[in-house]
Parts: sequence; structure tokens; C-alpha cells
Amino acid sequence: MATALAPCPYCHSPQLHFVHHLITHAVCCQQCGACGPSQREADDAAAQWNLVARSLQQVDALRNRGRQLAAIG
Ligand SMILES: [Zn+2]
Repeated sequence: MATALAPCPYCHSPQLHFVHHLITHAVCCQQCGACGPSQREADDAAAQWNLVARSLQQVDALRNRGRQLAAIG
């Protein structure tokens, strides 16, 4: 597996595993059970997981920035 997986965007756990359903693969978190999108290829499942994880991290960062700005007034 060439693609490094981003930590879980929900609980920040690095403990992830691949789940296989018939012909699809998904990355799932062992800590909270969150799963990324199912894909035909495991590499694509890893890429989709990272895309979701990074997107949610950016949303969190923006939310925190909004809180900081609101606190400043
Ligand atoms: Zn998790």
C-alpha cells in the first residue's frame, strides 16, 4: 500500500483498517467505526478516505477560526 492514510477526521485515531465488501474496499476507523467511501480499488478507497479526512480537517480549522474571530468581536 503506497498511500499513507490520514488519521480519522472524527476521533483523530491513526488506527485504521480496510474493510472489503464483495468487490469494494473502504477505509474504516477501528476506534469510532467511521468509514470512508467504498471504492473498487483499495488505493482509491485510501485516496477517498484522505480526501474526506483533509476536507473535514479544513472545515474544523475554519470553524475554529470563526470562533476565534467571534471571541475577538
Ligand atoms: Zn475514528
